Amino acid sequence: MKKIPRITVVQEFKDEAGEVTGQITSQSGADGTWVQFDCNCLDALPICRSQCCSLKGTFLTEAEAQSGEYDCFTDPETGLPQLRRDADGACTYLDRETKLCSIYDRRPGVCKAFHCTRGAAVRGWKLANIVERHSA
Ligand code: SF4
Ligand code: SF4
Repeated sequence: MKKIPRITVVQEFKDEAGEVTGQITSQSGADGTWVQFDCNCLDALPICRSQCCSLKGTFLTEAEAQSGEYDCFTDPETGLPQLRRDADGACTYLDRETKLCSIYDRRPGVCKAFHCTRGAAVRGWKLANIVERHSA
């Protein structure tokens, strides 16, 4: 029989009227425990610590790359332009203290479109990944 994953609400967010605006949940299954951020990024930040900004390959459109607005390079594997990463693997524009994007108002389209849980093919982050990054 297929094991049914156990879903736990870690945190719930509400607006002033008491309506639920988002949740952080964890889902435990055969492949481990996953943390899902079905909420606004600012609400998620204390737990997710902007892990998405350390994902490999923040690709730019050709127009964005040519604009001169971004510190970027051509990825030798894909031949596509992407934002520069620093030695710690994070995007060069990530404020390491606050975990906020230092160019938020002009961040590239891929960053505007991305959310790690909502509408994504992936389902948040594996718990071990989050714990490792927190302790890094
Ligand atoms: S997309 Fe996900 S990991 Fe990135 S800031 Fe938002 S909640 Fe955090
Ligand atoms: S530009 Fe901003 S939102 Fe995009 S990866 Fe870099 S720090 Fe994150």
